[in-house]
Amino acid sequence: MNQLIIKNALIVTCDKNHTIINQGSAIINNGIIDKIYETDSNNDFPAEAKKIIDANGKILMPGLINMHCHAADSLFRGLVENLALEEWLAKVWIAEKAILTPKTTYTGSILGLAENLMNGVTTVMDMFWYPEETASAAKKIGMRLATGGIFFDPPGVGGRTQKQYLTEAENFFEKYWNDDFIIPCSMPHATYTVGETHLKEAKILAEKYNGLFSTHAAETIAEQNDIKNRYGRSVIKHLSDLGLLGSSTSLAHCVHLNKTEIELIAESSTSIIHNPISNLKLGSGIAPVWECMDAGINMTLGTDGAISGNDLDLWMALRLAATLPKGFHMKPDIVNPKEALHMVTLNGAKALGLDMALGSIEKGKKADLILIDINKIHSVPIFDPITHLVYSTARSDITDVFVQGKQVMGNKQIKNINISDTLEEVKLMSQKIASTLDGENYG
Ligand SMILES: [Zn+2]
Repeated sequence: MNQLIIKNALIVTCDKNHTIINQGSAIINNGIIDKIYETDSNNDFPAEAKKIIDANGKILMPGLINMHCHAADSLFRGLVENLALEEWLAKVWIAEKAILTPKTTYTGSILGLAENLMNGVTTVMDMFWYPEETASAAKKIGMRLATGGIFFDPPGVGGRTQKQYLTEAENFFEKYWNDDFIIPCSMPHATYTVGETHLKEAKILAEKYNGLFSTHAAETIAEQNDIKNRYGRSVIKHLSDLGLLGSSTSLAHCVHLNKTEIELIAESSTSIIHNPISNLKLGSGIAPVWECMDAGINMTLGTDGAISGNDLDLWMALRLAATLPKGFHMKPDIVNPKEALHMVTLNGAKALGLDMALGSIEKGKKADLILIDINKIHSVPIFDPITHLVYSTARSDITDVFVQGKQVMGNKQIKNINISDTLEEVKLMSQKIASTLDGENYG
């Protein structure tokens, strides 16, 4: 048996009751959490345990779930600035088309996924042009990834036809429907880039494999106006009328929603993926997080790509998700930190249909775990570990990451890849990436 014991940790379980164990240990057998209990440092542990980690001075919590990312877009970090979504996307697509091949997508995916991992993220939902490459990168690093075929009506990167997009998406489901680490999804880009027929095809495919469906939705006012002009209904009503909402659907952004749309999302048990950094930086707006929580919607969090948010810091997203609504409504008592912490743990797992297996530290769940150093200037004193995690924790506090009981980061070092090689490779590409927008009057 492959056994791992993590002892003497301050355990924040993120279970439904927000249970905290001030000094506890976790026994993990073959990647599954077998026992969590209160301990003192003198407890005896089974002599046959292969690995015992003393986590004194650290918080043990479930690995974070980043529900919306475009990992390989890290290649374009900082390339297109100071534009609203629509003009920004036009530039992004020019750069992506010039640079992205399966090979460069793999390199970009390593860069983006490694940053997620360093930040304590163990599962990423990613949407990108060559999902096979992102899946290979996730496997190489040893993290969990939800992704799948993208749907996009124009030819897009790689110049594919609709038929090709559909075939590739189906092939992805075929390959990964039973995989332990890759969670296959249908990923149409958005209602303004994918017509009704292809949106429905994407959903039918997801249903055939009992998979997930995720798309960008209601990100800007311009998008809402565009869809209203085309179809005579709002973005969410459009998705609802096409039969695309439901518990296996998650919608990235949802910044501009009316009351009816919030009700449609709530009634259909659709999840929302809030991406506060991207929404702020692109000037898209501030999402109605409190109103959505009040309606009982499963709220999750994402970083979006580093091309819009410039890094992939889910801790920053968490802090913004917990504080922006307070400031916006001038109500310090809304978006409770406990609820906020669930957005990056248990709610993410629920949106993935995996809340029985991921998202909290409970017996029988998969051991996707992180250790957080709390022997830091900004960590002393801690009266409440949950408020510490939501309001004070920085990504640099993460020291160790485990995915299904396997240590994939130890002492801040990623184990399965040599990240310096990737950094060098990307630096060598940067000149070429910068030149993609030459002649585009980009200033
Ligand atoms: Zn996005």
